[in-house]
Amino acid sequence: MREACGVFGVYASNLEVAPLVFDGLFSLQHRGQESAGMAVSDGETITVMKDMGLVTSVFNARSLASLQGFLGLGHVRYSTMGKSDWRNAQPVYRAFGEAGFALGHNGNLTNVTELEQASGMLPGLAPSDSDLIGELLARAFPADSIEGPNDAGLEAALLEVLPRLEGAFSLGLIDATHLYAVRDPHGFRPLCLGRLEISGNPEPGWVIASESPALATVGATFEREIDPGELVIIDQLGVRSLRPFPEARIAPRLCVFEFVYFARPDAVLNGNEVHAARRRMGDQLAVEAPADADLVIGVPDSGVPAAEGFAARSGIPFGQGLVKNRYIGRTFIAPTAEARADGVRRKLNPLRESVGGKRLVVIDDSIVRGTTTSQIVKLLRDAGAKEVHLRISSPPFRWPCFYGIDTPHREELLAAILDVDHIAGHLGADSVAYLTLEGLFRAVGGSGAELCSACLTGDYPTAVPLEVGEPLAALVR
Ligand code: AMP
Repeated sequence: MREACGVFGVYASNLEVAPLVFDGLFSLQHRGQESAGMAVSDGETITVMKDMGLVTSVFNARSLASLQGFLGLGHVRYSTMGKSDWRNAQPVYRAFGEAGFALGHNGNLTNVTELEQASGMLPGLAPSDSDLIGELLARAFPADSIEGPNDAGLEAALLEVLPRLEGAFSLGLIDATHLYAVRDPHGFRPLCLGRLEISGNPEPGWVIASESPALATVGATFEREIDPGELVIIDQLGVRSLRPFPEARIAPRLCVFEFVYFARPDAVLNGNEVHAARRRMGDQLAVEAPADADLVIGVPDSGVPAAEGFAARSGIPFGQGLVKNRYIGRTFIAPTAEARADGVRRKLNPLRESVGGKRLVVIDDSIVRGTTTSQIVKLLRDAGAKEVHLRISSPPFRWPCFYGIDTPHREELLAAILDVDHIAGHLGADSVAYLTLEGLFRAVGGSGAELCSACLTGDYPTAVPLEVGEPLAALVR
């Protein structure tokens, strides 16, 4: 039950929104490539379509034309290491009597077992934590809304259920006539609100999206980020905001890895553009871990901005050393090490004339298992690189994420089982150095207190399964 996903919703009174939801999802494709789906309402009926695969393979002109309505919610889901299952595709949909709703979730609940026990559900009855939220909401619907359409049904259910949820949940929901957006009290995952001017209509439309670039894709302008702990309700009267969580629980902790790897470079998070933050990470890395070399290259795509920053600060020329096939998904999602290694060969090819005979600084944003990275080192050496100095624009990744990024068990996290001194040898590199936590926070802006960096520090903002805290002494070499 681990997923990091993309959510996109539109409320636009006199427009057909399905093509807009499609465009929004397409621009969030990097957040999830396992399944795609959307739910659209015409004010009375909600139609849902979802399937395994990329946005462009799930929807086509014909299916979009059949999804009619002025209110829509879409979702792309991240792979969970081979457990590709249609039941996990979203939006989650529940219908009863005249009422119905659809829900898309980015994040991960950390109190699934408690929620199941408290509601008397069989463990694992809901195929995912997102489905569990759907089930809890359905059970909390006021009886009068089941017998007849009650506009406030989902709002009442949300006010009852949201305070019981723990962990990471950026949610988008629709019922027949409203669009809703929710961010958990820590705001682990991003979610923002945009405004859509509609020609011939004095009332604007409204858009919610996991990342701000998706707003521009449909012609909407950035209005603001949804606050941690906020419930936004959009209907024909406009935008309303409620605060369903106790004040004491509100403690912003946006995931620092959104800046490091996950978000698009053109996304703006906590008021900072991600590309500029990545450049500053590289700049800082050049100060903290210089290298004697002839050329700085970045591992496409997320390593490139930091490589620019490293080159500018160090004075070593920046160049292209690896070409990426743009039409391939992220290799990390392949279920086995062998498949991932194959994936690297399919995805990246070295530029022999650029790297041959050179001492290279190779910048990547992170090392998780080390499978991809060791393949990259080998590719570059085979292409004639004289030296390979890896510089990583984030600190060692040592702890699993429980808040929506699908990470392997601790025993598979390279930096959890090997000292940094042994990592270069393991990866076949001449040297490896990581950015410090302080350096990362400086690059992102702020003290770090408003970020979640549990994957780097083991300091989890909420309770997490106990076994994670146990030392890996036996494995440390
Ligand atoms: P590896 O060497 O196998 O640990 O892979 C490291 C690569 O995976 C880096 O290039 C990262 O950009 C990328 N990466 C880091 N975190 C994730 C994630 N959660 N999902 C997919 N790819 C990731």
